[in-house]
Amino acid sequence: MLVVMSQSAGQENIDNVIQTIKQAGLVPHCIPGSIRTAIGVTGNTGAIDTERFSTLPDVIQIIRVTAPYKLVSRETKPDNTLVKVGNTVFGDKQIQIIAGPCSVESREQMKKLSGRLQKAGVKILRGGVFKPRTSPYDFQGLGEKGLEILAEVRESTGMHFVTEVVDTEKLPLVARYADMLQIGARNMHHYSLLRAVGKTGKSILLKRGISATLEEFLMAAEYIMLEGNYNIVLCERGVRTFAQHTRFTLDISIIPTIKKLSHLPIIVDPSHPAGIRNKVIPLSLGAIGAGADGLIVEVHPDPEKALSDGSQSLYPKQFEQLMKKLHIIAPALDRNM
Ligand code: PEP
Ligand code: MN
Repeated sequence: MLVVMSQSAGQENIDNVIQTIKQAGLVPHCIPGSIRTAIGVTGNTGAIDTERFSTLPDVIQIIRVTAPYKLVSRETKPDNTLVKVGNTVFGDKQIQIIAGPCSVESREQMKKLSGRLQKAGVKILRGGVFKPRTSPYDFQGLGEKGLEILAEVRESTGMHFVTEVVDTEKLPLVARYADMLQIGARNMHHYSLLRAVGKTGKSILLKRGISATLEEFLMAAEYIMLEGNYNIVLCERGVRTFAQHTRFTLDISIIPTIKKLSHLPIIVDPSHPAGIRNKVIPLSLGAIGAGADGLIVEVHPDPEKALSDGSQSLYPKQFEQLMKKLHIIAPALDRNM
């Protein structure tokens, strides 16, 4: 349920509504937004007696949110949520590009690559340091050493970074370094981790589970938001289907659907569904054409020697070509780069 208050409502009447919600044993959520003052209500197991709230001063409307996800729903918050990482804003007209290797492998690798990516216009780096690998015998990431490398690069270039957090045990460490926390596809259903990253208040990149429905995806975001954290960027990264010509099937149609149902920004990872690098640029262009707020792309200075996902990593030169193409198509889509 959503309690909508008049635009001119004073703090006293807003506090009064919040108090009344609490007294009813429910949980109030102040919905940030420029269009209206609204307070979301969760915590009910049955129907709520709306009269109790509709008669309070400055309350102009009570809206029952029909979607199973409440706080992430556009019914609750009609205006787009803007998520900031440094000066970068997701959810606005600007197309935001995150790029970097699948895994941080060495200081040299990151130094070499970051300069080139920055020149191409990238402001946020990606790089895994705790890797959720299918095989326990594969490279598992550099751990804290990798975080130190990413922090050094941030210090010298001013570029922010996103990196994956795989469990609650490592969360305090990763949160101490990272500007944005990635929840990987394999952890989209890890509800205690979702709540825990919600509590950090950091910007979160939430990837869609490998076989998650749209509703499960938005429900995962709801877990984070219930902790008061609205800084969530969703990420479509392909789902498992019967198709064998790609690693995963990129579900481009989820972009306009999410845009309609939720106020959260959504970006696309074209690398993991592609599986091989020659499909990355076409998938990227398709995603932006469908309205994605940005991309997260794997790029490696020497993909043949990469310790993870080398075959889908772009050469820096190819990434520069992608950026050029995006610069050309952005104005036609009424977007900026
Ligand atoms: C990654 O970003 O390198 C990664 C492991 O992604 P996903 O969780 O989407 O598989
Ligand atoms: Mn990867």
